[in-house]
Amino acid sequence: MKAIRIHGFGGLDELRYEEVPAPSPGPGEAVVEVRAAALNHLDIWVRSGAVRPPLPHILGSDGAGVVAALGPGASGVAVGDEVVIDPGVHCGRCDFCVAGEHSECVKFHMIGEHVAGTFAEHVKVPDYACHPKPAAFSWEEAAAFPLVFLTAWRMLTTRARLAAHETVLIVGVGAGVSTAALAIAKAIGARAIVTSRSEAKVARARELGADEGIVDGKQEIVAEVRRLTEGRGVDVVVDSVGKATWNASLRSLRKGGRLVTCGATTGGDPPAEIQRVFWNQLSILGSTMGNGREMREVLRLAERGRLRPVVDSVYPLAEARAAQTKIEKGEQLGKVVLRVR
Ligand code: ZN
Repeated sequence: MKAIRIHGFGGLDELRYEEVPAPSPGPGEAVVEVRAAALNHLDIWVRSGAVRPPLPHILGSDGAGVVAALGPGASGVAVGDEVVIDPGVHCGRCDFCVAGEHSECVKFHMIGEHVAGTFAEHVKVPDYACHPKPAAFSWEEAAAFPLVFLTAWRMLTTRARLAAHETVLIVGVGAGVSTAALAIAKAIGARAIVTSRSEAKVARARELGADEGIVDGKQEIVAEVRRLTEGRGVDVVVDSVGKATWNASLRSLRKGGRLVTCGATTGGDPPAEIQRVFWNQLSILGSTMGNGREMREVLRLAERGRLRPVVDSVYPLAEARAAQTKIEKGEQLGKVVLRVR
């Protein structure tokens, strides 16, 4: 089969479109014939060596396709099923897994991070990773869904407990997780304010349902947030940008507000501002991925037509370099997708 594989860690040149052995399913596993796969920043961390799987390694955490084969004892899924893949792999036995909090499992890892990923014609996954594809989704939309919607769902519901009467600030709306957070915030019924350094992205986010938009760099984020909230500040901030936005995110919160973070694409060590945190009684919430229950919940909303992923652009599998270039330049709004077949 064809796949995008790396043989070393480094730049875009490491991405090779090549012939690799097709996987066969082990106990409790399924092999999915991939129709489309979506890119994430994680793929770039892996390629550049921030995460170091054994080499050679097939990239890609997001994917959707048709179940082609099942290993012994695999259950809950049948050959021919159209599925989206939950990229989280866990032990199923530790205290966290038994409590249903798989994303806190001590052995938690991701398809495409430590095991072969979805940028391939076939991928081997645990049976529990296969969830029914929402019928109305194209393959590209289905591939664009799992990682960012699961992540944003856990951030906004389980962690930040965003309520319909509240206001959420979504920082850096171009990122896939941010567009997912916008869709989820609107499905919950909350008011959503978005920011981006790009005027075009703010305009596009408004088309997608954002109530207010702030152009970072042209407008002062904190002052605009205060103006839009009658001086109060927002209830929740969703920030996956990190260092570049952290200070403005903390200052945009109301007293007792919650900041939820799932990433730090611009760096992980901004000033902690402990005085601001305790004086304003802020909650800083970390979140990563989600568990099976959360995946089923967010897919149920999608199935009902309440959520739809934003696909920025689609490339053939062979053009993964061009697709990653787009993400590295931060040009996208929503997900960049690879069409596999
Ligand atoms: Zn576990």
